[in-house]
Amino acid sequence: MQYAIKTFMLFAAIVIITLGCNSEYIDSGEPIVATEISKEFVAPAQSPDLSDKSLELLNKIEFLEKQLRDNQDKESFTSVSAEANPSPQNLNSESAYHFDSLSQIEKAELIQSLPDPDLNTPPSAKITILNYSSYSTDDINRWVALAESKMSTRKSNILAWIYPVGELILPEQEIRGDPFMKHSVILTPAEIDTLMQSIETWLKADECMGSRNRKDHLKEELNRYRMWFEEGGDASTQATLCAETRIVAIGVSKHMRENEPLSNFQNLLIHEFYHSFQQDLDKEGKCRQKMEQENSNSRWFIEGAAHFFSEKVTSEINGNYNPLNKILENAWNLHKREGETRIDGGALDKSGAVGLQLLIEKELLIENAIMDGSLFHNCARELIYDKDSPELQHVRNSWYLINKNDEQFSLMPEAYIP
Ligand SMILES: [Zn+2]
Repeated sequence: MQYAIKTFMLFAAIVIITLGCNSEYIDSGEPIVATEISKEFVAPAQSPDLSDKSLELLNKIEFLEKQLRDNQDKESFTSVSAEANPSPQNLNSESAYHFDSLSQIEKAELIQSLPDPDLNTPPSAKITILNYSSYSTDDINRWVALAESKMSTRKSNILAWIYPVGELILPEQEIRGDPFMKHSVILTPAEIDTLMQSIETWLKADECMGSRNRKDHLKEELNRYRMWFEEGGDASTQATLCAETRIVAIGVSKHMRENEPLSNFQNLLIHEFYHSFQQDLDKEGKCRQKMEQENSNSRWFIEGAAHFFSEKVTSEINGNYNPLNKILENAWNLHKREGETRIDGGALDKSGAVGLQLLIEKELLIENAIMDGSLFHNCARELIYDKDSPELQHVRNSWYLINKNDEQFSLMPEAYIP
């Protein structure tokens, strides 16, 4: 069978590269590679001596391997012309190195068309929501379920808690160690204890956080959460405790409950949940290395996508505004009111969302890769999008070129990637 032969050839290529490289090593035997690649490649992945080059090749081969599987059933490849863009059949018959020769758009289409090896949500990918706020639990469950339903695959176990806080304490004071402001406390001491008990029980039952070597980490986290509750912190955060163990914490201020439209809360909720659906936030190796470089794409891609997604889904729930207009308005405000020009300077979710829109307009990114979460399966933000490419540099310098006409916002012609 052709498929088997090709798979074997890719396998052989990895073995050769793996054996041939002995320069740099990844940290440990963490399941980074073993869990990320498909079963056919488990044997070479178990080698603890994978260099960065091997890892990069593994990533590329993973893309191609998934593509192969996908194309067993698929006839066509999204809108590629024969000359400029290789057909999937051509792709399949080429070596993995040809991935390098694909244009950004072809890579973007690859990301979009790749099915995940786990076609169904694994039984462990569960969401638990502890709602102590005045918002309806049924509504919250419904909105989160809608957001989750858009993901192509799900891996993380998520514990979320939503709690009310009162008035902002003046002068403003930050909670120690976290960027949340102190508010008057609404939860009673008994409620705080109950909430803490539920969180502790959940985390101890978690495969990763409940393990013995996470004992100190667990204690630290629990102390942080208790402080948020006891000091009225308006938390709005997702934390990646382990690659597949995520928490979402939202402290809803009195101001938000009483003076802001419901859509602001929906937006916040969906934004934080989107982070918990981003599967590669904890990725090590080459991804981490690139992520830590100056001007890396990671922060604005991660935040921008969460904002992009939450505006789209909130709009879908309420059916009452144009989400792109809202995305542009938010970025316009950030630039006009705060004078921000850096894509990763201030409210980078707002600037980043427009950055992603510019990539979509240039057909370097497919919107659905944001909406179904697949953009965040394999660190595409660093391993596929090159921060130093002219396109990415252009985005960095033009996300704020937005016109306002009445209440309609639009990108200036010079904002578009040439
Ligand atoms: Zn965020």
